[in-house]
Amino acid sequence: MVLTPTCPICGLKASAPIAQIRFGEKPHLPSEVALHGCADCDFAFTWPRDPPGYRDYYAAVANDAAQRHGQYRNLPQAEILADLIGSRQVQSVLDFGCGGGGLLHVLAGRFPQVDFLGFDVNANFPSDLPNLRFSDQFPPGDHDLLILSHVVEHMADIGQIQGLFGLVGEGGLVHIETPDPKLYATFPQPHFGYYVDRLHINHFSQRAILRIAPQGFDVVAGGTYAMPYALGAFYPAQYVVLRNRQGERAVPAAIEGYLRDEAPRWTAVQAELRDRKFFVYGFGDNFHRSLTPGGPLHCLEDNIIAVIDRNAAVLATDGLARFAFVEPTEVVRIDGALIVCTVSQFSKLDTFFREAYPRSEIRYI
Ligand SMILES: [Zn+2]
Repeated sequence: MVLTPTCPICGLKASAPIAQIRFGEKPHLPSEVALHGCADCDFAFTWPRDPPGYRDYYAAVANDAAQRHGQYRNLPQAEILADLIGSRQVQSVLDFGCGGGGLLHVLAGRFPQVDFLGFDVNANFPSDLPNLRFSDQFPPGDHDLLILSHVVEHMADIGQIQGLFGLVGEGGLVHIETPDPKLYATFPQPHFGYYVDRLHINHFSQRAILRIAPQGFDVVAGGTYAMPYALGAFYPAQYVVLRNRQGERAVPAAIEGYLRDEAPRWTAVQAELRDRKFFVYGFGDNFHRSLTPGGPLHCLEDNIIAVIDRNAAVLATDGLARFAFVEPTEVVRIDGALIVCTVSQFSKLDTFFREAYPRSEIRYI
């Protein structure tokens, strides 16, 4: 029975095949794959997907053995990662799916104070740098930077990709680099349909990458570039860097907390003004917000002698006005009284107040 293909990311029914390609027989790999798409995820994937087959294939083949020390050709990628490591507090780096370890060799040489660990199913080889190790055992977590370089397009189990985000701690970074399908046509390779193969089983858009990222991981960098490639040509690569902010408060809770933190700042001001009569300068949002619970003028409507405003006459005729109004030119009435200024750009008003009401105390809120 042939199951209907469903999008491995969202689980919805996928499109009719975009392509169906036959290959020669190879152990563990399907000899025919169909490429399907999910418009909602902006994503394409091969079908059928057979995780055990691919797992056995990668266990048997060192996919990237040519990328050993000194032969690493993707130097633009190394520069992007060097900028990231150099500009942030990165102390430990894990390259998950490190292949021959060429990328880590370049980076470890540039950052001798940073610990680098390369993991791959075949990475049981020694390193010639003291700050670089390789392992074929699934690595422990809590790294500052996880590199997934040309890994996620090979992984059949999307849930397993999502699980890898657990390998960085709070504040840690995840760098995901994968081919950019939207640029395949811009970088045609010497062979027909080269980008549709049976090892690249996922074709991600940036949107699709963000969809598989767990909640709490935010994008901090990203882009596309021409990656130097084996055929003497370039390969379109895209990368996204995400930061683990899961420990931070969600937006609603953050705003609630912000307003809660405002209270002690203004309780003292409100208490101080409670026993005084004053003029208010500024009849905008700051003034009205100040009257609400927690604000410095809350319950102090009766302490306001009048609001100083150039349109005092007009405002006073408004039947709904809760306050008395006074023109700024009524100096005799105002000068000497406390003035509470609620105008945002009060630095510019300083001189005006000193000249117009020299005997007044000015309180900015
Ligand atoms: Zn989908």
